[in-house]
Amino acid sequence: MDEFELIHRFFSHHAPGGGVVLGVGDDGAVLTPTPGTQQVQVIDTLVEGVHFPKDFSPADVGYRVVAVNLSDIAAMGAAPRWMTLAVSLREADESWLEAFAEGIYAAAAEHDVRLVGGDTTQADQVVVTVHMTGEVSEGRALRRSGAVPGDTVWVTGTLGDAAGGLEGLRTGRLDRELLSRYARPSARVGYGQKLADVASAAIDVSDGLLDDLGKLLDASGVGAEIDIDRLPISTALSSNFDTETCRRFALSGGDDSELCFTTSGDKAPDGGVMNVTAIGRITESRDLTTRLNGEIVEVAESGYRHFA
Ligand code: ADP
Ligand code: MG
Repeated sequence: MDEFELIHRFFSHHAPGGGVVLGVGDDGAVLTPTPGTQQVQVIDTLVEGVHFPKDFSPADVGYRVVAVNLSDIAAMGAAPRWMTLAVSLREADESWLEAFAEGIYAAAAEHDVRLVGGDTTQADQVVVTVHMTGEVSEGRALRRSGAVPGDTVWVTGTLGDAAGGLEGLRTGRLDRELLSRYARPSARVGYGQKLADVASAAIDVSDGLLDDLGKLLDASGVGAEIDIDRLPISTALSSNFDTETCRRFALSGGDDSELCFTTSGDKAPDGGVMNVTAIGRITESRDLTTRLNGEIVEVAESGYRHFA
């Protein structure tokens, strides 16, 4: 199978429309932006053995590389529109590519984002990159930098599930629900767009709550107090791990694809079936303090935040 055939077979499924004047097949894609919008551009790479295990299902690799980009788009309050895809493979393994493409298109279909181009190369390691473009009404993109003292800190969904799923992959103690939270994360795209009017700052939780909240705090020049007992933990997680492990995953586990955001009042938009939980407040002191039952557990200073 030559490269042309491979691209035609696996990566040319999207019909015209959705602002695509010219998609896969020419030297470049031609896209029509929506009047009155600004573009949000994000990119994320998954490296085999680093960001997913070597024997990870190719359909899940495809799904995840789209989902992690969608999560960044969601954190900006934008609507995803188009993406390009760079794939490096050891060889043109047809069954791998077929499953991988299926995962790509499944994630794309959930949010009506179109694959408009890409690059396919041979390498010693599987590396997949998606670059995604979203649109947001002029001046309305969410940022990390707008939180002020007194704001409420919120998170969507539940935390730590992806870390629980990954731990299950390592130990062989598999829980289907946790595994799917790792392999097929649901980016909070619709909810992110609802936040454009109400959130003072937002970030997606991809490296763990403390790490990502720390970035939001640094960008805003503030600190926060977080109540560990209010962290949203799923039944799936708590029925597979003890309380301390659940809390550790919720605070420091990565790959959750949830949103962490701040609001000036104590109200957040309704998440429908998804929980939206207030977990603490923004402080003038730049420390990130965690409390359990009111008692201080740990204080991480700005610029030197590290948690065990
Ligand atoms: P060029 O040599 O002009 O860069 P290529 O032969 O690499 O073009 O690619 C041909 C077409 O196929 C281009 O439109 C490119 O965007 C698209 N393409 C290549 N690889 C992929 C991929 N993995 N997914 C989607 N589109 C791809
Ligand atoms: Mg060319």
